[in-house]
Amino acid sequence: MVSHLIPNNTAKMPILRLGTWKSPSGQVTEVVRVNEHEVQVAQEKLGEQVVKHEDLFVKGLVKGASQKILSDLKLDYMTLYLIHWPTGFKPGKEFFPLDESGNMVPTMEELAKAFGISNFNHQQVERILNKLGSKYKLAVNQIQCHPYLTQEKLIQFCWSKGITETACSCLGSPDRPWAKPKDPSLLEDPRIKAITANHNKTTAQILIRLPMQKSLVVIPKSVTPKCIAGNFKVFDFELSSQDMTTLLSYSRNWRLCALVS
Ligand code: NAP
Repeated sequence: MVSHLIPNNTAKMPILRLGTWKSPSGQVTEVVRVNEHEVQVAQEKLGEQVVKHEDLFVKGLVKGASQKILSDLKLDYMTLYLIHWPTGFKPGKEFFPLDESGNMVPTMEELAKAFGISNFNHQQVERILNKLGSKYKLAVNQIQCHPYLTQEKLIQFCWSKGITETACSCLGSPDRPWAKPKDPSLLEDPRIKAITANHNKTTAQILIRLPMQKSLVVIPKSVTPKCIAGNFKVFDFELSSQDMTTLLSYSRNWRLCALVS
């Protein structure tokens, strides 16, 4: 597995990982043996010393949940603590509780070696960097990134601060619950399909290779074993600079997951 050294940290993060949002937990166990929801399996592997802690990349969302994950996995710390949205959420079972401010930057120093953020824009990254000061390491910003939303300016800004970008929804998240029939589809886009012929690769492989070649970490989600296997066969070809320019020219500022309040 090719790893990406996190600039603001000494840890390494795999450049290509499996996304898990929307994956039924039983199915995830079938296709991956290590998953934060499948702590039993992970714990067994750790117990057998098949997997060492430094080889695992563990992320969490809230302090209580993080502590439970750590305790279930019998780990002392997380490699990276990812703050999923640039705003605090009211605690509870609702997925997106509206209009209550929570703790935006919880004190997690004792749990994580580095912090990650998600869906932070330029101004929000700057604000959190000012708040964190030098005490905490901000290592990753996970953002939606694909040919319809290329995020060029934000990526450049984050790099200038030593923050790695993780591209999520690189395939256009066709299984997102709020998808509408008329929404654009990356996987069905004939202009992107046309590029597959240059490389004898699938549209998904082209869409996964693009962020990798831009030095982003990428996390395509699938619960289909054949797709997962194919999605990881992206280390044996290169998009040309012409391919890259063409793909990036389809940017249309289309956000498939926007937080509305
Ligand atoms: P995605 O990876 O863009 O797309 C997933 C969809 O593509 C699934 O329907 C999957 O089907 C299908 N797919 C996967 N490989 C395929 C292939 N080779 N050919 C055809 N279809 C294929 O969607 P995502 O889940 O939105 O994004 C990936 C990960 O990014 C998530 O799982 C999550 O971890 C993260 N994410 C984070 C945020 C955030 O706010 N931080 C937002 C969105 C996503 P099957 O599963 O049926 O195989």
